[in-house]
Amino acid sequence: MPIIRVLRFKLRYVALTAALICLGYGSWESISEELDRRSVEALSTVLAGKIIVVDPGHGGIDGGSEGSAGIQEKEITLEVSKRLAAMLGQAGAIVLLTRECDMWLADPDAPHKKRSDLINRVDIANRNNADAFISIHVNSFIYSRGQRGAQTFSQPGSGEGKILSQFIQNDLASVLGNTKRKPKETDYFIRHSKVPAVIVEIGFISNPAEEKLLLDSAYQSKTAFAVYCGLVRYFADKSSRIAPRQ
Ligand SMILES: [Zn+2]
Repeated sequence: MPIIRVLRFKLRYVALTAALICLGYGSWESISEELDRRSVEALSTVLAGKIIVVDPGHGGIDGGSEGSAGIQEKEITLEVSKRLAAMLGQAGAIVLLTRECDMWLADPDAPHKKRSDLINRVDIANRNNADAFISIHVNSFIYSRGQRGAQTFSQPGSGEGKILSQFIQNDLASVLGNTKRKPKETDYFIRHSKVPAVIVEIGFISNPAEEKLLLDSAYQSKTAFAVYCGLVRYFADKSSRIAPRQ
């Protein structure tokens, strides 16, 4: 075979192999995503009857952090929380939103309004003996606009809260595919919670690229789905931990 023909043959072979590898890789990605989605669907029966309090952070006169587009944290947290509540409700959970509109929960005559607002949110979970309390927030760090990525927080020493936090962080990482952050323990208002509680900071509004994502309706749904998946896996794991051994 003349050298040029051999080279052409080899090039054609290399191109074909590369195309097949790309095709195969792409298919495998979507197959594994599909299998992952189905495993969450199959497990989602564990949510039936669970009482889950979803807390859209901030509201009313407390706008929370603000992005360059002028959108406030309270608007984004409400959008994501409503989406999460709908997903949980469809799976049979009893969902309580701490707010469904632009308001905050501070007692009008409380001396410390912000404190009262935060405690009243947790109290909804405590009073209803909820199975989980999820508070949705948006992060901001204007001194370093490169900071990005969703992250979960639990109260130090909260056994179940820490486990739930880990499950949600895992699914934020796998569903969103853009955070390498690890779940963290921090002493904050969820210290008042008597039920497993997690604060989910869904991303940094101070990061221009992430701000764009946080304002995107499809990304808001994706974020809600990630938190939903974490809750499903947490309750599936919990039921296997407390199930009597055969
Ligand atoms: Zn916040």
